[in-house]
Amino acid sequence: MQRDPVHDVAIIGSGASGGMAAWNLARKGVNVLMLDAGARFKRAGFWTHVKPWEWRQRLDRGQRPPEFYLDRQEQPYQTPEGRPFDLVRVWGRGGKTLVWGRVSLRYSDLDFAAAERDGWEIPWPIRYKDIAPHYDRVDQLIGVCGGNDDQDSLPGSRYHLPAPAPRCGERLLQSRMGSDPKRSALNGFCQSHEVPNLFVVDGAAFPSATEKNPTLTILALAWRATDYLAEEMRAQRV
Ligand SMILES: Cc1cc2nc3c(=O)[nH]c(=O)nc-3n(C[C@H](O)[C@H](O)[C@H](O)COP(=O)(O)OP(=O)(O)OC[C@H]3O[C@@H](n4cnc5c(N)ncnc54)[C@H](O)[C@@H]3O)c2cc1C
Repeated sequence: MQRDPVHDVAIIGSGASGGMAAWNLARKGVNVLMLDAGARFKRAGFWTHVKPWEWRQRLDRGQRPPEFYLDRQEQPYQTPEGRPFDLVRVWGRGGKTLVWGRVSLRYSDLDFAAAERDGWEIPWPIRYKDIAPHYDRVDQLIGVCGGNDDQDSLPGSRYHLPAPAPRCGERLLQSRMGSDPKRSALNGFCQSHEVPNLFVVDGAAFPSATEKNPTLTILALAWRATDYLAEEMRAQRV
């Protein structure tokens, strides 16, 4: 009689966590069984990268995108009284890697030591140095792109791939501010170095990115630029 195979490790769920655990154990020779309750979503059925107009055309034809998320009415869950929690559940092979945005940022010691500093939650038992080599490995395995600047809040990586080249629209609209006209298109008032009556007051003027959302800065820069423009017009310089 044939016996069912015995596996060393059973992994429940094939998302980022289960997928990584299975990959690392399997390559070390461990016999792994991976179980996933979700469906297999065929790649060809994804709508994620469909152009906006195609999306509308498909909806008009009565087609619907794949339903990645579990319906809360069909699959309810409970939370303690007065403590609601919005649980996002994707049941499918690959889990939420089917839908995630791929923003791949490292935690720093500001995050790992936050509980001791702020007095909230349970302290992490590890620090950045403990996980840094594994961040390095993941960066190389999944191909994370970005710069190598290293900040207190956001550690850098020497394994980041170069950022993808700007797309057509980004090339055309790239108009960063700077003091040197050879390296920038706008001065500090969002005014074109070359065409003095042209002002670009949106996020395209930012010479560098930060981790903060941009809109308050866009509003303040636009105000500052137009204060300046009004003065320049009054003085008949533009
Ligand atoms: C829209 C969206 C965008 C996101 N963007 C980002 C981003 O840009 N950057 C970022 O860092 N994070 C992002 N996240 C978060 C990220 O996707 C998750 O943190 C990560 O994928 C979690 O992986 P996981 O393996 O822990 O869980 P999951 O991916 O949820 O995997 C769980 C797996 O278990 C299976 N399963 C569940 N119950 C059972 C069961 N009873 N038996 C067997 N199998 C079961 C499921 O089918 C699923 O495959 C995003 C999330 C969403 C929803």
